Amino acid sequence: MLNSERLLNSFFDMVKIDSPSFKEAAMARFLVDFAEQQGWEVRVDKAGEKSGGDTGNVIVRIPGTGVGEPIAFSSHMDCVPPCLGIEPVVKDGIVTSAGETVLGGDDKAGIAAILEAALHVTEEKLQHPDLYLLFTIAEESGMHGAKNLDPADLEVKSIVVTDSGGPIGTVTVKAPAKAAINIICHGKPAHAGMEPEKGVSAIQLAADAISRMNLLRVDEETTANLGSISGGTVTNIVAETCSFTAEARSLDDAKLRWQLDHMHSCCEEAAAKIGGSIDFKYDISYPALDVPEEDPLLQQARQCCEALDLPFAAVPCGGGSDANILYGKGYHVINISNGMDKVHTVKEQIAVQDIYDTARMIAEFMQSPQ
Ligand SMILES: [Zn+2]
Repeated sequence: MLNSERLLNSFFDMVKIDSPSFKEAAMARFLVDFAEQQGWEVRVDKAGEKSGGDTGNVIVRIPGTGVGEPIAFSSHMDCVPPCLGIEPVVKDGIVTSAGETVLGGDDKAGIAAILEAALHVTEEKLQHPDLYLLFTIAEESGMHGAKNLDPADLEVKSIVVTDSGGPIGTVTVKAPAKAAINIICHGKPAHAGMEPEKGVSAIQLAADAISRMNLLRVDEETTANLGSISGGTVTNIVAETCSFTAEARSLDDAKLRWQLDHMHSCCEEAAAKIGGSIDFKYDISYPALDVPEEDPLLQQARQCCEALDLPFAAVPCGGGSDANILYGKGYHVINISNGMDKVHTVKEQIAVQDIYDTARMIAEFMQSPQ
């Protein structure tokens, strides 16, 4: 049996440890100590040095006792603000913070469930393949831990990430790729009253470019949005520059590229009509997660749900996570729910039963090798 009291206590211990992005050292220390107490191999990788954090990812290895491919389980150590001095409160089986902070169930409920599952299978001497536990840094601020993970440090084909919500048994199989876009329009300044015809208005240029763009809900799988705009100085000068930021997302990497090309073309067409020039720059923040139905890891999730009588559901999700990055690195990845709810707010909550069921689900995964 999984130890539900120990599970809840370790969850509380962890949410009380401050761990904003890039400052997860105390949390990493806790996990390293925890692993060493069990006699598990543990190390901290170089992701912190590469990304400016005070620790790297924590990677635990538990040698296999049975057959099957090695498999990894992953959750992130950092929390979104406000996350300092978290005080967990339980009422009617639901855990929340005392109200001033997030709870940090995102994603420490995942860590607690993974640790309890690993304790369970090792203590009960259940058969399992080589198990790896990956606890990442700085997921919330741009998945820096996953991005800086060296695949040589994690020699598995499959990773089960637990960093999503919904009933336990919900598996995220699609999550969009996202591009961050920066656009700068260059016009030509001139006195607006005396010789405006000698100028090119960067603001008009921006307006023309934007009016050509297909934005917001582009298609079923693709979205685009302008985030901010600024430019110009005073009314008697034809504006020299105007810049705006945007993002585009798609569940399909090719459609994302198409949307970026489209937005870039709109800028070029505007410059051809109005004059001036436009710098169009973008950065792919993360690739799309797109797990095919026949993926063995997804099939395994379905079987675990059946064995535990949990409702299996494969669903898309609108946001990215470590799962996108790890998938982009070539691993088989699914993102399973740990029941977290109202995340990134001070009303964040999680049901005690959901953390327990997540641990059951992960323990089942650990014992059912591919
Ligand atoms: Zn998360």
